[in-house]
Amino acid sequence: MKHLFSGTKPFWAFLIILFALPVLPNPLHVSEYWITLLNYIGLYSIVALGLVLLTGVGGMTSFGQAAFVGVGAYATAFLTTQYGVSPWIALFVGIALTALVALVIGAVTMRLSGHFLPLGTIAWGLSLFYLFGNLDALGKYDGINGIPALSVLGLSLRSGRSIYYLIWVVVLIAVISIQNLLNSRPGRAIRALRGAGVMAEAMGVNTGWMRVVIFVYAAVLASISGFLYAHLQGAVNPTPFGLNHGIEYLFMAVVGGVAHVWGAILGAVILTVVQDYLQSVLPILLGQSGNFEVIVFGVLMVALLQYARQGVWPFVARWFPRGPRARSPEQAEPLARRSKPAQGEPLLVVDRARKEFGGLVAVNDVSFEVQAGQIVGLIGPNGAGKSTTFNLVTGVLQATRGAIHFRGERIDALNSREIARRGIGRTFQHVKLLPTMTVLENVAIGAHLRGSSGVWRSLARLNAKEEQRLLFEAAEQIRRVGLEQHMYDEAGSLALGQQRILEIARALCCDPTLLLLDEPAAGLRYREKQQLAELLRKLKAEGMSVLLVEHDMDFVMNLADRLVVMEFGTRIAHGLPEDVQNDPAVVEAYLGGVE
Ligand code: ADP
Ligand code: MG
Repeated sequence: MKHLFSGTKPFWAFLIILFALPVLPNPLHVSEYWITLLNYIGLYSIVALGLVLLTGVGGMTSFGQAAFVGVGAYATAFLTTQYGVSPWIALFVGIALTALVALVIGAVTMRLSGHFLPLGTIAWGLSLFYLFGNLDALGKYDGINGIPALSVLGLSLRSGRSIYYLIWVVVLIAVISIQNLLNSRPGRAIRALRGAGVMAEAMGVNTGWMRVVIFVYAAVLASISGFLYAHLQGAVNPTPFGLNHGIEYLFMAVVGGVAHVWGAILGAVILTVVQDYLQSVLPILLGQSGNFEVIVFGVLMVALLQYARQGVWPFVARWFPRGPRARSPEQAEPLARRSKPAQGEPLLVVDRARKEFGGLVAVNDVSFEVQAGQIVGLIGPNGAGKSTTFNLVTGVLQATRGAIHFRGERIDALNSREIARRGIGRTFQHVKLLPTMTVLENVAIGAHLRGSSGVWRSLARLNAKEEQRLLFEAAEQIRRVGLEQHMYDEAGSLALGQQRILEIARALCCDPTLLLLDEPAAGLRYREKQQLAELLRKLKAEGMSVLLVEHDMDFVMNLADRLVVMEFGTRIAHGLPEDVQNDPAVVEAYLGGVE
């Protein structure tokens, strides 16, 4: 834990107060009422923490978390009262059941675009609520009573004061496990889900599966909260697991700050305390009873979205530790490398590739070859079909016809993940990086396929050794491209030229045999272009092969071994740069035209 919270006295003070609260002596004695409130805050925090991961980090909105709380609560209620099963066994049954349900719902909805997930979770939240309320075995709307108290090491957790510790230990475990996860191989992939999915796929991340996995983890946290709730209450009924509570959980995460782990707890505190206060004050003020706090919350939500999109957390964050930032180790065992092709071996062979968009032929039976150790420039005026060709090779688009081979294997039917796995590293015409992550973390995403530790190992920090190796590899590639003085800067703070070089380091991290760069010089200043050209020469000298898609003829002229020129989707010339430069068709189409 030291590395997580070093230099953070307020955090330790918070922890000590948290754990001392129930046992403070008399003048400071905390009443039963406040302990109950704190217990509920803890239970809500556990659910909201899952939403931070799912919604704040992963970008997926779920209204259905309350239903997962219900699965955990009903599982233990049913098993302990009907069959006398030990609560701890019931806990595992509840978790397994929740994971299974979440896996099915996740697998169905996650692959669909945007709003299907929220809609799916609403449907799920509603149907489970009615299921709880209509099953005879679950006591219909009366629910189940007489749920036994938990006991730990022979100690009964009947009183609010005793279960308090269990609840808050679970909260802390949830916080630490999520922090662990976010600073790991799968965590970096998860952080890329929101807004950089295409990039993540090109680095070999199975984004669809990642989404399902964090959906399952968030559901499991909710289920554990439900388990604790059932044993705290001693009774369950369907009401707390309905859709409006699902919305409340989401609201907590948003109020606290949905992108911050501690924001979840803060949100749970604010909502619980404010709700409790409003419930007692509003009916008196208005002279009649009713759930008026809902209206106040609605207004609060609108104000928040207007003035504090990040929630309240950033205002309190100064006193708490910022999320730990990965550092590269001094030394680590190097990762395995793939076998390198012999110089001159045909690496990429594009054979009459064709791509039609409706009636438009964007790539018209184009053929060319990249041999190992070469830099090949694919050039042409805007709209010539360069990017489309690039996308065919990288698996972003499927060719209408034709074949593409890489190291003797046909790759034109593979997706971008599979193509990355075979050793093609790529950059993007419009830089795709995670601006609030450090350069090191961004580059480490490139090494995704060279690690294997998944979400579960990372949650428990069993991945430390591999993590060191991945980060060391990322640091090595950063040094290789000469970006080491920016290793721990936020990627968003770099100049465009440096961001392009960051992308090259990230692509190098997957140990590619072929590097594909889409217009790396676009938008760069003269000096930056020179640095980029220098870097590409260095990589070539080290044996790297490069396919360079470029609009800027001067940039490739002194760099490329061979050029392929396209216009209107067709290859109009190819060969040595000096021959191509003097080719009348090229002069006419490219240099003499609008250019
Ligand atoms: P370049 O990268 O050489 O500037 P592109 O490959 O981006 O050219 O585009 C080639 C042609 O294909 C252009 O006419 C462009 O409008 C068209 N095009 C590219 N992508 C699509 C698409 N997804 N749908 C329809 N037309 C497209
Ligand atoms: Mg383009």
